[in-house]
Amino acid sequence: MKRTLMPTAADKLRLSQISPHIVQSEIRSMTVECDRVGGVNLAQGVCDTELPAPVARRAIEAIHEGYNIYTRLDGVAPLREAIARKLQRDNGLTVDPEGEVLVTSGATGGLYAAALALLDPGDEVILFEPFYGYHLNTLLALRVKPVAVPLEMGTWALDLDRLRSAITPKTRAVIINTPANPCGKVFSLAELEAIAELAQQHDLFVFTDEIYEYFVFDGTKHVSPATLPGMAERTITISGLSKTFSITGWRVGYLAADRRWLGSIGYFHDLTYVCSPSPFQYGAAAGLMELPASFYEGLSAEYQAKRDQLCSALTDAGLTPSIPSGAYYVIADVSRLPGANAKEKARTLLRESKVAAVAGTAFFTGGRGENLLRFCFAKRDEDLQRACDLLRQLR
Ligand code: PLP
Repeated sequence: MKRTLMPTAADKLRLSQISPHIVQSEIRSMTVECDRVGGVNLAQGVCDTELPAPVARRAIEAIHEGYNIYTRLDGVAPLREAIARKLQRDNGLTVDPEGEVLVTSGATGGLYAAALALLDPGDEVILFEPFYGYHLNTLLALRVKPVAVPLEMGTWALDLDRLRSAITPKTRAVIINTPANPCGKVFSLAELEAIAELAQQHDLFVFTDEIYEYFVFDGTKHVSPATLPGMAERTITISGLSKTFSITGWRVGYLAADRRWLGSIGYFHDLTYVCSPSPFQYGAAAGLMELPASFYEGLSAEYQAKRDQLCSALTDAGLTPSIPSGAYYVIADVSRLPGANAKEKARTLLRESKVAAVAGTAFFTGGRGENLLRFCFAKRDEDLQRACDLLRQLR
């Protein structure tokens, strides 16, 4: 039979030009491999610990009380009010729950909606490297150019000259993730003040991702950039309850911004996600209103102990950790593991010790991170202990 050379309709169908660049994250593929071999998954940043009692109780009540329909596009009043109260109490940020607070589908939904509302294709946005992959991909998806400013390897100190020289007339914003995934850097007040000065000089927005704000160690203080002089009007403060209340699957986050921006961000959030799940908004509100300060102090203490446990096992295994000041990940130098690159080293580790970690290259541009792996310590005690035992057996 003769083959037809006529193009078919299917040949003309294609993915968007950006789609091939937005690929499954390395974290997801390591998770699949880890499940296959029955390993301990330190690749994924999921805290599957028990959630606080008021959070669960109120969400279940809300379902039975019939709060199962769409909410107002900026979220339910009790949650907006609880967020405003928390921002005042813990962050020193004064916001009006009517018009300056938006409940979002996680911090992820908050950043996406803010980027849709405030950035145009071709704009440049600075982010610090190592970065969180979703930040990079959010920019790429919107045809915004990410400009990575490397932090000093290992100490993660900010080099201001590098930041200054990354700013061009096309720069519209800087993304700050503090405490940071994957390196655990907590930006110091002096660093934030320097970024704030540049943002004001060059008329830049600052998007902050503060999802790990309650995970800070050794007495380190978290500072919300919006509280610095002159920063409230240009800072989009993004955070959420996924990590604090161990409810990553609930999709409850929030964003606080000047009312000049918040309305449009809300419309884009509505367009993309409609609303954060209604009963879970009530659960999150109860957590914010009812949990005492000791709950948050307890989180830091508990995770600091987990950090120390993992860092000590990594050191014993000859995989040198860079000790994080916040968040719940450790980057370790794994030069000693066989493998031509970070992905191969991650697979060697999974094969040899049944511990899954993420290739460092997922968090860097330009081929950096080949000798690094990221390990997550937000794990149940028994799982973390098993991972540490397995790492110590590594030859
Ligand atoms: N931001 C950072 C820096 C993260 O590491 C994560 C999750 O790993 C998220 C946001 C996701 O937050 P959410 O579940 O609120 O969308």
